[in-house]
Amino acid sequence: MQSANHALTRRAMLTGGAKAAVAASLVPRCRPAIAEEEPASGNPDYVIWDVHGHLSSPGDTPGQRIANLLRYADRMGIERLIVFMGYPWAYDPSPEEVRRQNDQVLEAVEHARGRAFGFVYLNPKHTEASLAELDRCVRDGPMVGVKLWVAARCHEECLDPIVRRATELKAPVLQHTWHKITGNLPGESTAADLAILAARHPAASFIAAHTAGDWQRGIRAIRATTNVTAEICGSDPAAGMVEMAVRELGAERVMYGSDYAGRSFASQLAKVHGADVSKDAKRLIFAGNIQRMLAPIFAAKGIRP
Ligand SMILES: [Zn+2]
Repeated sequence: MQSANHALTRRAMLTGGAKAAVAASLVPRCRPAIAEEEPASGNPDYVIWDVHGHLSSPGDTPGQRIANLLRYADRMGIERLIVFMGYPWAYDPSPEEVRRQNDQVLEAVEHARGRAFGFVYLNPKHTEASLAELDRCVRDGPMVGVKLWVAARCHEECLDPIVRRATELKAPVLQHTWHKITGNLPGESTAADLAILAARHPAASFIAAHTAGDWQRGIRAIRATTNVTAEICGSDPAAGMVEMAVRELGAERVMYGSDYAGRSFASQLAKVHGADVSKDAKRLIFAGNIQRMLAPIFAAKGIRP
């Protein structure tokens, strides 16, 4: 009985398959099929560059991971991605671990053929190794900025040689900042820490990643330090964040980033699309400000964006 049922089912499936094939042949050829990969939606109003992302997307290799990210970026109308840190992550990585992660980003950037730019990930507790890695990846390699995470609080003196070298190379410094009500990690910087560092290096360009998560405090902490730009990624898409940043800092000091794959493109884009600010302000936030910030290093390296 079981085998008869099985045969019947199989026959029915075969018959059904044949019918489906005939039906498919009758579909007019001009009608586009629903492809697995949808074409880029494009974004007629805005050019969008995403200044904050990671290779934590699906894929066995950095090349596969960036290809997946670019597929999703296309669907959301995002033209360029900035990526940093490989995998797996570590709060206080050794110089060897940092180098390995930067190699993964270099591989991804090469695979992306101009659609993605890399920022070099450094652990400032290892100052000499950090300077060597800056030279390897930015001076002699294709990377165009610096990413600092949670190994050391950024107002510490060990940051100074790294910021000086980054400034010589015209590379902006993107520093993770957060204000956790449960308490920060020992090496985790607040926006106020970044303001202290930035005041010591007036010629450097800084990006306050996440604007401290608690963005009302973050915006206030960096307000008087004009070489720090607020980057909005990572937190929930709360109404009022972009409006306050534009009001307190000016649209020239606010940048869009997503923190993908930890956060979705859509939820972070919504912060800007949904903000009650002018279209000109949104153009600066989505791409104009990072393009202006990277223009000197692009010119120095001969990169044509
Ligand atoms: Zn991140």
